[in-house]
Amino acid sequence: METDQQFRDLMSGDDSSELEMVPGDFSYQGESVWDTQSPEWIEAAYDFSDGYRDFLDRAKTEREFVREAIKILEAAGFQELEDRSVLKPGDRVYESIHGKGLMAAIIGEDSAYEGFNLLGAHVDSPRIDLKPNPLYEQNGLGYFSTHYYGGIKKYQWSTIPLALHGVIHTQDGQRVEVCIGEDESDPIFTITDLLPHLAAKQMQKSAATVIEGEELRLLISSTPDASAKGKQAIKTYLLKLLNAKYGIVEEDFFAAELEIVPAFKARDLGFDRSMIAAYGHDDRVCAYCSLMALVGIEGCPERTAVCMLSDKEEVGSAGNTGAQSRLYENFLLALIDLSTQEEFSELRYRRALAKSMMLSTDVSNAYDPVFASVSDLRNNSQFAHGSAFLKYTGVRGKSGASEANAEFVARVFQLMREAKLPYQIAELGRVDVGGGGTICQLLANWGMEVLDAGVPVLSMHSPLEICHKLDVYAAYLSYQTFLTRMRLA
Ligand code: MN
Ligand code: MN
Repeated sequence: METDQQFRDLMSGDDSSELEMVPGDFSYQGESVWDTQSPEWIEAAYDFSDGYRDFLDRAKTEREFVREAIKILEAAGFQELEDRSVLKPGDRVYESIHGKGLMAAIIGEDSAYEGFNLLGAHVDSPRIDLKPNPLYEQNGLGYFSTHYYGGIKKYQWSTIPLALHGVIHTQDGQRVEVCIGEDESDPIFTITDLLPHLAAKQMQKSAATVIEGEELRLLISSTPDASAKGKQAIKTYLLKLLNAKYGIVEEDFFAAELEIVPAFKARDLGFDRSMIAAYGHDDRVCAYCSLMALVGIEGCPERTAVCMLSDKEEVGSAGNTGAQSRLYENFLLALIDLSTQEEFSELRYRRALAKSMMLSTDVSNAYDPVFASVSDLRNNSQFAHGSAFLKYTGVRGKSGASEANAEFVARVFQLMREAKLPYQIAELGRVDVGGGGTICQLLANWGMEVLDAGVPVLSMHSPLEICHKLDVYAAYLSYQTFLTRMRLA
């Protein structure tokens, strides 16, 4: 275009002279929360985030998250669903999904057949699991062999302090909860790496293979059993020690669920303490904000409000604790069945799901100036810019994406503006650089409207992820606003 006038003529046809241009700036200004929110708001954000940071240290695994979440729910008057034969508006119920997932709800004024307002996050995080038969010794050192869980850069998990969490069922019927490496007086474990002096060949390898899967061995002991006379002496001593401490024998590992996670605590990051560095923000940050959004609802919401916390998202949401499990759907079915007292109709149930609306609350990649080339800044979430909404995820040409409908997205943003909440629009990196997914599409398959709404995270899937306190609070407020006020037209 040669001149502005030519451009205007082209855009408006022949009668541009009759167009009335209203003065004003119609551009979108992606503002920082620092500029738009009051000092009181920012103080409240820091207070809320401190609670989140402290919660993180009590809930490093999906099982621990569910255990701690149930404590919060029961303190807030939620009861187990299976104890109820009838539900009425204002009732608060929850159901544990095999102790690794969780559903919780507050029954609304509207009939449950009008659908639900849902928040859905996941409580599993990338980590390293033990192999089913993990214990062995080599050259005087005791090891656990491992199998990593989720998408990790394996090299990031060596030479850091690691803790062991999980559950073991002994052959005499005891259930042993394991948590070693968290208390200051506990020992820790680690995965070794090669000294640089001898790593010339290793350093030529690609980052994907510099530490390989089978090299993720956890160093756990070095004391021999005196009576073993050298034969499997390390392993013999270790098994005696484990038996004395926990009453377990080697075969008990076969059924155990033992997870290796970073041993360090969640900490404030920065001179200004504006950020939180911790293991497993993905997706405990959205899971915590979603849980607290539900718990904080006072009285009875108009529509039934539901918080869904699922397991196994990092490996595809399969199995009976993953978001694809019918157990989550059973909870919604029960809410309808127990609250309507009408003869159950499968068609009406499916239509209720279709009338439901959900925020899939999962983290997004925060724009990282150090690695700017992977992001299109105008379409990437940034720290301190509020809740990050993603209309779609997927890879390449939106492959695997569930794209939220314009009508629904527009209504959500209208709600955010009405509540004066900071929010931003985003996608996951530049086109064709990579991609990812959430549980969004699984729930959208049931017919409901679903939009991804997350918290931006730096160093995602690393042992030490970072999020911003202002975004954590913005997410919490936006989730609660959605639960209590979202309705179409
Ligand atoms: Mn996630
Ligand atoms: Mn993830």
